[in-house]
Formats: sequence, C-alpha cells, structure tokens
Amino acid sequence: MSYRILGQGKPVRLFVAGLHGDEWKDTSDILENIEAPQQGTLAVIPLVNNGNYISTLDDRYFSDIGIPIIEAVEELEPDVYIEIHSYSAENLEDLTGANRLKRIGVPAFSRLDHDVLLGSVAPYIRRKYFPQDALCLTFEIQKENPASKEYARKIINRMKEFTTRDEFLNCMLEKYPEQARKAIDDYKKFYGLSDDEL
Ligand SMILES: [Zn+2]
Repeated sequence: MSYRILGQGKPVRLFVAGLHGDEWKDTSDILENIEAPQQGTLAVIPLVNNGNYISTLDDRYFSDIGIPIIEAVEELEPDVYIEIHSYSAENLEDLTGANRLKRIGVPAFSRLDHDVLLGSVAPYIRRKYFPQDALCLTFEIQKENPASKEYARKIINRMKEFTTRDEFLNCMLEKYPEQARKAIDDYKKFYGLSDDEL
C-alpha cells in the first residue's frame, strides 16, 4: 500500500502529487502536510514517482510509474480523485490555449488566480477506472511561483472538505463562473451528454 489514509468513512477522496519527473519539488509537501478532512476519508500519495517523465496522457504512464495510483483507485474506489501537477511558465499558453483540444485531443486548462490551472484528468484513467459521477480533477501549479503554490494549497485544502460534486460545482460557479462552465461543458462533451444532463 503506497498511500496514507486520513479520516474515515464516506466520501472517499484520493489526492496524488509528484506524479513524474521533478514535479514533486513543487507539489509533494502540500500532501505531506495536509490534515484529515472534517468528514469522510482522504487518501494521499504525496510522491508517486520522481524518476523519468512520462506524461499521464501517455497510456504507458498508468501501467508503469503510475501503478501506485491505479492500485489505490482499485482498493479505495474514490468519489473524488485529484492530481496535483506543476508546469513551467513558458508552457502556460500551450496548456490554456483553445487549440489544445485540436492539437492533442484533450481540453485546455482553465486559468484560476495566481496561474493555478484547473483541468480534467487523462481520458484513459477517467474512463477505465472511474464511474461517470466521480469528480476527477487536475490542478497545475506554476513552478518557481510561491504565490501559485500557496493558492493551490488553499484550493486543495478546500477540495478535501467537499462531500458532493454539486457542492464543488456551486462553489466554483460562484468564484469562477466562466471556468466552471467550461469544466462542465468539457465533462458533458467527454461523456456525450446533452445540455440538461449532469
Ligand atoms: Zn505533470
């Protein structure tokens, strides 16, 4: 077992950081120092892998260095799954540009305050390992940007307290209406849902 459990009962959340390469430098300590949620369970893997960089969009990721994640998902069946990544400022346009979908087949990230980015997780793990109503998100912290990291820490601490997907969506719609609508839209497109389904 490569994860640590905080709290107990439902809902069950799994937060992972340090997924590849040197990203642990900007992400791992957020989960090393996180406290138990008020309600339910939080499982954390602060460091998945600090060796080679394999993108999570590459299917080999989850059958190689990402195996601890798959094992945890299969054992815990989390309702909420969150990946914490980091990115270089020079890649901001690549990650958030509208042509990302066309270029590599996954939706662009949304930009939150302090250049923290919000997006979905890789289609491979989303489709194969999670039921449709699970909440699966990626947060990207800008490397070498302390404000970005501190803001992400705040968001992650908030995320661990949500007990339903609707609670999360309502909070997002209030603070980031545009980004929230995009996230909902991307989700519907991914599952081929019509506008009145969610
Ligand atoms: Zn990453």
